[in-house]
Amino acid sequence: MTKSISFKCSKCEKIHEGIPIINFKAPLHYYSIKESERADRVKFNSDTCVIDKNAFYVKGVLKLPIIGLEEKLSFNVWADVSKENFLLYVKFPESENISFESPIFGWFACEIDGFEECLNLKSKLLFQYKGLKPSVLLEPTQHPLSRAFYGGMSIEKTIEIIEFYTHIS
Ligand SMILES: [Zn+2]
Repeated sequence: MTKSISFKCSKCEKIHEGIPIINFKAPLHYYSIKESERADRVKFNSDTCVIDKNAFYVKGVLKLPIIGLEEKLSFNVWADVSKENFLLYVKFPESENISFESPIFGWFACEIDGFEECLNLKSKLLFQYKGLKPSVLLEPTQHPLSRAFYGGMSIEKTIEIIEFYTHIS
């Protein structure tokens, strides 16, 4: 299997090498809030976000396999979790109520271009050792994102996604 990719970008005509990590800075909900109100209503920590003290988000990593490549395409995405699970996460790994084998439930809270509507897909967050973001696992369904998560996607599709997110302003 090939290790990584390099390709001529259809947007900028340059050669892009390697697979970037695609980072979503905030859950989709954040963008529905007026810019002037964000500072008051949204509280960010490194990997968490709370909106209006009643919507709780945790950042995790979704890795999509690429057919024929060893490397995966990683997205730093957000999941909408219950307050109870949020508090468990914040305390992790000091919390004794949580183990590596017990993922917590979360609603997928981002839209990834090229996969139809992804908001509120059922997902789970699997905790990793401190310093690493939780892994995002999707419910196995026929949704295109879930199919890519379990079955992988083509290199062509991967390149389209990389081009889109490399040149998004
Ligand atoms: Zn480019």
